[in-house]
Amino acid sequence: MRIAVLSDIHSNLEALTAVLAHAGSVDAVWQLGDVVGYGPEPDAVVATLSAVGAVGVRGNHDAAALGGPEIEWFNPDARAAAEWTRDQLTGDTRAWLSALPETLAIDDLTLVHGSPRDPLREYITSAAIARANLDEVATPHVLHGHTHVPVAFSVEGDRMGVVAPTSGSTLALAGRRALINPGSVGQPRDGDPRAAYAVLDIERQTVVGRRIAYDVTMTQAKMREAGLPDRLATRLSSGR
Ligand code: ZN
Repeated sequence: MRIAVLSDIHSNLEALTAVLAHAGSVDAVWQLGDVVGYGPEPDAVVATLSAVGAVGVRGNHDAAALGGPEIEWFNPDARAAAEWTRDQLTGDTRAWLSALPETLAIDDLTLVHGSPRDPLREYITSAAIARANLDEVATPHVLHGHTHVPVAFSVEGDRMGVVAPTSGSTLALAGRRALINPGSVGQPRDGDPRAAYAVLDIERQTVVGRRIAYDVTMTQAKMREAGLPDRLATRLSSGR
């Protein structure tokens, strides 16, 4: 069973469409939250995920778009985009987002947006934070997003290994506990503007990091047309 693992799509339909085409025939699509926010097409992105039967969890931007207090933590650009998103969402989109849990355990994996111990807030940005979260989760493996930077933390003896996956690099899961962040589909922040995702192979117990270029110019044009903050559009060019 091969699973496309997507996080932080952020209403970016061009990036999502490119990723789904690049992933090819997979058996499932899992998403790790922040389906909406920042980008110009929340309804089309949710409809696309719904059509492929994606399962997954809620992110802080999804919660904010549904009217949650998470909007209070946002910087002015993120807040403006969240308020715009609130006004856009159809009833179907709201219902789909509302049904997402904060945490989802599937066999050996826990899916979460931020971290297992604080799903909507905590950023896993260090080996120490990764270790503390592994201590609080029952499954051997965790899939998470939120930072928009692809990274894998894995237990190597008594230390925590940290790997920044490049496109095509493979992490072996067998026999070791790990937390894996596939990076962001719709707003990468590791200096590479290409959409990031991962493919999980359950039988082989591997996770392969992937990158694919998409039509950034088209997404930026839609954002400007919608009146979204310009900085959110320009940063897509640099992946910062
Ligand atoms: Zn995000």
